[in-house]
Amino acid sequence: MSTPADSAPAAPNVKGPRTTRPCRTCHEPAGVVCVGCGAVQAPPVVIDPYAVFGLSPVWHLDLLDLEARYRELARLIHPDRQGGKSAADRMYALQWTAGVNEARRLLKDEVKRAWYLATGSPVPKEKGVTLSPEFLAEMFEWREEEEESPGSRAARAAVRATEIRAELEAMFSAWEAGSGDLSGVEEALSRLRYVS
Ligand SMILES: [Zn+2]
Repeated sequence: MSTPADSAPAAPNVKGPRTTRPCRTCHEPAGVVCVGCGAVQAPPVVIDPYAVFGLSPVWHLDLLDLEARYRELARLIHPDRQGGKSAADRMYALQWTAGVNEARRLLKDEVKRAWYLATGSPVPKEKGVTLSPEFLAEMFEWREEEEESPGSRAARAAVRATEIRAELEAMFSAWEAGSGDLSGVEEALSRLRYVS
């Protein structure tokens, strides 16, 4: 995965994504909607959830800022704004709507964001990381104790989940500051799944 420093700067006259391509109509650099001619651009096959909002790929996201960017983009691609435009504009606007909504859902969820940044996918891979025998033995122990004293597992799991979230917090903070990598994130997220 790229580091935050890799993200490209926004072109000056572009609304929407930073990953700009020449406008399909006027060939000026364009985001989702070309500022110059108003043409809605064809969405890429895979929409980068950060780039579509013009955001750097970081875990610590300002969710109010995300919502403001989402509202601006949603307004640009709203069907009501495509009146008088071509059939291609209307079709692309609809295609963007689905992708933009999906990107927003992903970014609003801190666990999905973490998976995405660490693995490129917002959900765990089918064959994930192998958890340590110690951790799995502990989980087994929790299950056994749960039978003797119901409720004990939930209490322990809540404490453990808080600890794992703190680990994630530390790893992402270091990475965003340019002094660490995300190699431990997938394993931590896999443990978090167990105790969530
Ligand atoms: Zn244009």
